Amino acid sequence: MAAIPTDSDSAAASGSSLAGVAYFSMEIGLDTAIPTYSGGLGVLAGDTLRSAADLGIPMIGVTLLYRKGYFRQSISIAGQQAEHPVEWAPEGALDRMDAKVSIEIEGRDVTIGCWRFTITGATGRSVPVFLLDSDLEENCDADRALTHYLYGGDDRYRLCQEAILGIAGQKILAALGHGGIEVYHMNEGHSSLLGLSLLEDQIESRRGKRPTKADLATIRDRCVFTTHTPVPAGHDRFHRSLVERVLGKPRTDLLAASRLLEGDALNMTKLAFECSRYANGVAKIHQTVSQRMFPGYRVHGVTNGIHPVTWAAPAMSDLFDRHIPEWRKDSIYLRYASNIPADEIIAAHQKSKLALIRTVRDRTGEVLDEETFTIGFARRATPYKRGDVLFQNLDRLRWITRHVGRFQLVFGGKAHPRDEGGKGTIRDVHEAARALEGLVKIVYLENYEMDLGRILTSGSDLWLNSPEKTREASGTSGMKAALNGVPSLSVLDGWWLEGHVEGVTGWSAANYRGALDDRASVAHALYDKLERVVLPLFYERRNGYAAVMRGAISLNGSFFNTQRMVRQYVYHAYERR
Ligand SMILES: *Cc1c(COP(=O)(O)O)cnc(C)c1O
Repeated sequence: MAAIPTDSDSAAASGSSLAGVAYFSMEIGLDTAIPTYSGGLGVLAGDTLRSAADLGIPMIGVTLLYRKGYFRQSISIAGQQAEHPVEWAPEGALDRMDAKVSIEIEGRDVTIGCWRFTITGATGRSVPVFLLDSDLEENCDADRALTHYLYGGDDRYRLCQEAILGIAGQKILAALGHGGIEVYHMNEGHSSLLGLSLLEDQIESRRGKRPTKADLATIRDRCVFTTHTPVPAGHDRFHRSLVERVLGKPRTDLLAASRLLEGDALNMTKLAFECSRYANGVAKIHQTVSQRMFPGYRVHGVTNGIHPVTWAAPAMSDLFDRHIPEWRKDSIYLRYASNIPADEIIAAHQKSKLALIRTVRDRTGEVLDEETFTIGFARRATPYKRGDVLFQNLDRLRWITRHVGRFQLVFGGKAHPRDEGGKGTIRDVHEAARALEGLVKIVYLENYEMDLGRILTSGSDLWLNSPEKTREASGTSGMKAALNGVPSLSVLDGWWLEGHVEGVTGWSAANYRGALDDRASVAHALYDKLERVVLPLFYERRNGYAAVMRGAISLNGSFFNTQRMVRQYVYHAYERR
């Protein structure tokens, strides 16, 4: 008779013999009220750990505490973004741990403590997340501020944070009683100094000696790496002089002796590649782009996903519970959404749409129309995402709304405080809203975060995405939309190259101009698709539109989820085979 797995036997229950996986990420989206994430990377990290808990994979998350968060966004009537610190109380949301470690930063001993957040999965198993905190009495004021802001400060502040994440994070696990880590997973290059920390441990008994090839091979055997950035400028690089100042000369010499410096710089992505036995990009196209960018390393592909129970709106969760109750424990069952009647999908979605309309009214006073086709667009405001591309030709938009069908638009998204181009995009959307006043209602919701993300991706009728090609590693908001029966209209890039089946799961922004990716061509393609296909289908053949909604859930919800993704990580990256 097979033994019944117990909670303490979670690795066996998942069918894996993994001892422990430590997952390091600069940001982790744990909850809307815990501002330890800025966007897609952090939300993905949170969804990864939530699925690991569901599956009983013995994972542990490691990140920083960010007492002042990323920032809270407000936007003036003219569309000018302002940033405010987020005040939150870790005491209310997390458990303070006793464990502390001390690491040398700029020649000072800096003490690092930590807090624990516990993620409980669908079957009651849990995954701990440790949030590192330098704001302790033992430290000077400047050091206490090192874990205050996510993506705030200059290169020096950033390198100090990465030292805390990689080095203190690696050391504190043993102090917390998690000594038996089998695999270290670096989510993006920010945490790759953990490779240096492991190397120091490795040669500890032979202090003063040079690391050997075998030492590096030992480190490499324990680490895996996921890269997320498809453009060279997006990878952290620090000048050797700064590395020496922050990490000290012995550590810098060790990096150099191990050939882990790139000329006069520390390239965090290269360091992560050098220290890993397995590396992957986050979508098929991103695998290809990363492989071209880093020809010296083998790059695999594991496409991102989302955690369905977190991202399904209440009305959709109810619908799934009624028709496919297994979906909560096993996302593959979402495939059987293909049997849900169209009118029930339409009715559930209408509830999500009303929730969005309520949120818009409560937050802005604007009243959207519940029968009008509603297009959603929310993501980080930065020029390559082209959030304003739909406003390229206002006359064409006016024509479409008058002669084909009415539509309204809901936007959201923060620009990084130093991203002037991104702030410009937010102003451009506001300007377009004024120009189209009385004809097309356009609202921009402030302070896009996880809760708002769920409301927007589930309440829109169509999810729009128009990034410059190959700039979007994967994108995940369209996956949240698909799960909620909201088809995408998107440029063929990132995950949409895999998830797009024309007229079945949504639509591509491609037309007779084919591959052209300039603003005018992309806008033209979007107008054509809206005018000739999407709006007529919505207004004249609602059951046809519902079939696409159902296709999005069944084909994309069942695949683009973190349960499939985490299983792939276990099979391809964590387990040795
Ligand atoms: C899902 C999500 C993202 C990532 O979406 P993209 O499509 O990758 O831009 C960013 N921010 C929030 C708040 C999210 O919920």
